[in-house]
Amino acid sequence: MFDRSDNGVMAREPRFEEIMCGLLQSGKVPRAMVSETREAVALARRFSDEVVRPHSLELDRRMQEDPTYIPWDFARDANRWGFYTMWLPRFLGGKGMSLPTMGPFFEELCACDSTLGLLTAGQYFGFSILLASWNLRIIQRIVRDVIEGERTGEPCILAGAVTEPQAGTDVEEMELLSRAKVNCHARKVKGGYLVNGTKIFISLAQMATWTMLIAYEDLHRPEETVVMLAVKKGTKGFSLGRMENKMGQKACPVGELIFEDCFIPDEDVCYSSEQVRHLRRGPKESAMQLIDFVVSNTRPGVGAAATGVARGAYEQALRFACETEVDGKLLVNHEWAQCLLAEMYKNVALARMTYMEGTYVNGLYGITRLLSIKPVYYLDKVIPESTPRWIAGLLDSDSATRWTRKFLLDGQTDEQIARTSGWASLSKFAASDLALDTCEKAIELMGHAGTRHEYRVEKHLRDIKVMQIFEGTNQLNRLNLFKCMIARSTQEALIFSD
Ligand SMILES: Cc1cc2nc3c(=O)[nH]c(=O)nc-3n(C[C@H](O)[C@H](O)[C@H](O)COP(=O)(O)OP(=O)(O)OC[C@H]3O[C@@H](n4cnc5c(N)ncnc54)[C@H](O)[C@@H]3O)c2cc1C
Repeated sequence: MFDRSDNGVMAREPRFEEIMCGLLQSGKVPRAMVSETREAVALARRFSDEVVRPHSLELDRRMQEDPTYIPWDFARDANRWGFYTMWLPRFLGGKGMSLPTMGPFFEELCACDSTLGLLTAGQYFGFSILLASWNLRIIQRIVRDVIEGERTGEPCILAGAVTEPQAGTDVEEMELLSRAKVNCHARKVKGGYLVNGTKIFISLAQMATWTMLIAYEDLHRPEETVVMLAVKKGTKGFSLGRMENKMGQKACPVGELIFEDCFIPDEDVCYSSEQVRHLRRGPKESAMQLIDFVVSNTRPGVGAAATGVARGAYEQALRFACETEVDGKLLVNHEWAQCLLAEMYKNVALARMTYMEGTYVNGLYGITRLLSIKPVYYLDKVIPESTPRWIAGLLDSDSATRWTRKFLLDGQTDEQIARTSGWASLSKFAASDLALDTCEKAIELMGHAGTRHEYRVEKHLRDIKVMQIFEGTNQLNRLNLFKCMIARSTQEALIFSD
């Protein structure tokens, strides 16, 4: 009965490795990760109580009246609490909190206010893009600026710029990039690149010290000519355009970036096809891998934020049901209300499972793989907070970047890329859809009170609607899941052919 040879049955769909990621990762997770995650959650609860909740509604109303207001006071608070360096590895000079603890932290903050949650953790979107380039020299330099920003009290924030006026969904997916109408051109010139073009809907655009910019050397062959540039605020030829007045996520500024003959020196080029010629994949596949490294990390991050929103709406509805009488008895004692609350609780639990699974997959095969290896994990915990000189020197060398890229990019199989990317998409669209459903159910339970600003549920609803759009629309993420996990089981399937 317990025949150890599986006679090929385990090659059948669904693949064991794909549906048991949490189980496969469980033995590899360092024990200290449990206490670290508890610490992250406790910290988020304290910050929510002391800083977020007291300002949340007031700031949302203020943004309604003046959409150009920039919430620097809040960013300074987040900086003072150490959040902008919290998840940067200690060997780079950060506080070394492990990246997988970020989901539960983010869920907590977003249960209170997802906009201020994004303002706190949104900078790690920019950092994820920077990290995925695995250009250790530039990573080290920019991280130093973030640390200095914490020391001086003036936050050094990172942003990531991909979306363009004519290309949103198309630049999130390499299969579509070849047909995309991109305009952000980076021309190779002596000593660097000359950039021309526009980016839109860039989170934290007005606040960022460094923006990780995705541009293209050849606008007719963008998929083969991706470059990633680190652009510092104040660089000649780089300016800010309009600031968006949007329905939700109001306190998290989003804006346009304009590049007019903007010169970026070679030392700020994080990634180009030239830099990765030594890798086994070609320029198109390497660029796809870079994008997948980023979104496989940031999409479960959106999943965590969405789980927080669902929880926030559910908790408000439960509180309301415990305080409000309908037909002579408390709402919470009506069976229909109990069923509705059970549905909301289920939504939160399911959403959480998706982002945790996405986190495990990243530890197994994705961006956190290196830092999840137990000896590396414990080594980073004992390193003194300021980067030792020998490590700084090592990171500055080109060979360290080449070796790290070889290990991480060449070491990742196509199957592993598909698994991390597929789970990330699943988490992003499932959690945000479940959260929207939870907000609607909360308003249904609360009646007219649910639409009142002071109950926060209508704000959660506005905020979550926006989350269905960024980090690739939920439609794109569904198609990506199909591409990564479903298409291979049928020969007839055509991918991105419409
Ligand atoms: C609040 C907010 C913050 C953002 N922050 C950032 C940021 O920091 N950095 C950044 O780079 N971008 C950011 N974005 C942009 C975001 O990533 C894009 O809005 C998103 O990728 C969708 O692109 P689009 O809006 O151009 O929609 P479009 O691509 O124009 O899509 C319109 C509709 O068509 C569908 N669609 C398009 N193409 C296809 C296809 N091939 N197959 C099926 N359906 C398709 C879409 O799903 C959507 O329903 C942000 C957006 C918002 C709203």
